[in-house]
Amino acid sequence: MVADGLAGLIRTIPGYPKPGIQFRDITTLLLDPAGLSGSIDQLSAALADLKPDLIAGIEARGFIFGTGVAQALGCGLLLIRKKNKLPGAVLGVNYALEYGQDRIEMHADACPPGARVVIVDDLIATGGTAIATAQLLRQAGAEVAGAGFVIDLPDLGGAARLRAGGVRVQTLLE
Ligand code: IMP
Repeated sequence: MVADGLAGLIRTIPGYPKPGIQFRDITTLLLDPAGLSGSIDQLSAALADLKPDLIAGIEARGFIFGTGVAQALGCGLLLIRKKNKLPGAVLGVNYALEYGQDRIEMHADACPPGARVVIVDDLIATGGTAIATAQLLRQAGAEVAGAGFVIDLPDLGGAARLRAGGVRVQTLLE
């Protein structure tokens, strides 16, 4: 399936989570067998050259795509979670997101020094979440080898901002 086919499987829900937002809903893509496998196959193919040691999946939808990419590329999966979800000692970064403020955390011992890590999430909007993730991973001693997203909202500038911070970014759809 080409990316054009994937686009037809994503629906837009106006006014969620607040008025004026056009929310891109990937639950319909996940329900479609070819959409689920096609999006993971395409993301994996786009990220293979980066030769990651680990995939960092961002909670929650990044866990879905991150798991598939990690399996396809023969990597482990590192969880980037919302605050207070991880049981062990954590490193964390506070950040501003499209709809408020948040904090992400990872286990402090999750990443061997110098590991090549590729970030995966469903969507990049302002880039706040992904940039905070790159900051967190670098704080943990990782080399951020790149990042992959199913959807880019280019008007919000996140992918450009992430690239300006030295991260190679791959996206499937705009
Ligand atoms: P950013 O930090 O502004 O780039 O927002 C990206 C994060 O918010 C990702 O973790 C997305 O899952 C989530 N997000 C923002 N907008 C949407 C949307 O329209 N659909 C699905 N997820 C979204």
